[in-house]
Amino acid sequence: MRDVVIVGSGPAGYTAAIYSARADLSPLVIAGSVDAGGELMKTTEVENFPGFPGGILGPELITNLQEQAEKFGAEIVYDDVTNLELSGDIKKVTLASGEVVEARAVILSTGSAYRMLGVAGEDRLMGHGLSACATCDGFFFRNKNVAVVGGGDSAMEEATFLTRFADTVTVIHRRDTLRASKIMQERAFANPKISFIWNAEVTELVGDDAVSGAVLRDTVTGETRTIDLDGLFVAIGNDPRTELVKDQIELTPTGFIAVDGRTSRTTLPGVFAAGDVLDPTYRQAITAAGSGCVAALDAEHYLANIEAVAPVAVAS
Ligand code: NAP
Repeated sequence: MRDVVIVGSGPAGYTAAIYSARADLSPLVIAGSVDAGGELMKTTEVENFPGFPGGILGPELITNLQEQAEKFGAEIVYDDVTNLELSGDIKKVTLASGEVVEARAVILSTGSAYRMLGVAGEDRLMGHGLSACATCDGFFFRNKNVAVVGGGDSAMEEATFLTRFADTVTVIHRRDTLRASKIMQERAFANPKISFIWNAEVTELVGDDAVSGAVLRDTVTGETRTIDLDGLFVAIGNDPRTELVKDQIELTPTGFIAVDGRTSRTTLPGVFAAGDVLDPTYRQAITAAGSGCVAALDAEHYLANIEAVAPVAVAS
């Protein structure tokens, strides 16, 4: 029986692991098989994580957090959780390997997954010119003409990164102003390889075996047109990954895990949440790390409280 099992291995999960390991709770982190490390593994330079004035690469930051957690005794398993039974005092965490881990407390830090457009051609062309990760796939678009859909920080970051490889990068945004932070906007506007198509949404992807273009609808006039492209990157935000818990704990109206005020306590005793899976607003590596700390402290208090009220075994 484990004291704490942490599901997810981004900055929230690993920070929860550091804190609970230092509290002598010997946490087990289920890091995931393919997605271990979360979104930061797909990022390049992280410039705003406090303590790194020169910036740090996303994967390096994750490796540091992981090593720090292991140093204090956290154990990490690179497997996926396939089932969670969270009600009752003893939680059951089933892994893809078939192993069932029992725990007195579970911290959910499953993060979020790329949102996709949901348009015709998307399933067929995913991985064939269509991508949601410039860091992963940008290299394949050397000297090509690509587009990025979205108007937030992710879209600006993807577009700027893609200019390392592509000849041209067109940002397609459904409004005429960006949501991205000022510094990211300015960087994109100043880049001669980046241009913008405003008030446009992609309604269809064109191409049989690979992306060759996209059908755009003008969100003001309603007119449609087709543009030629070698690749399209979708950067329109993320959705919380709640698949395994959505029928067991309360979610907010927008689908995030509901927690009690500023705590990490979910609607089930002994189940805590941290990071992007509960955060529709801030979604930064540093806020995820902070909420991982909160979850570990809440779990620690919960376990201490259980011990304090547990009936004392009487020898017969
Ligand atoms: P976001 O801020 O939610 O922006 C999503 C963008 O996609 C918005 O411009 C939105 O348009 C557009 N969009 C949403 N659904 C769409 C659809 N179905 N079709 C077309 N466009 C759609 O998401 P994000 O850019 O992934 O950023 C998320 C959080 O991570 C933010 O807090 C951001 O600051 C942070 N982040 C920070 C960095 C960094 O600091 N280096 C990098 C990446 C992300 P509207 O504007 O019209 O809503």
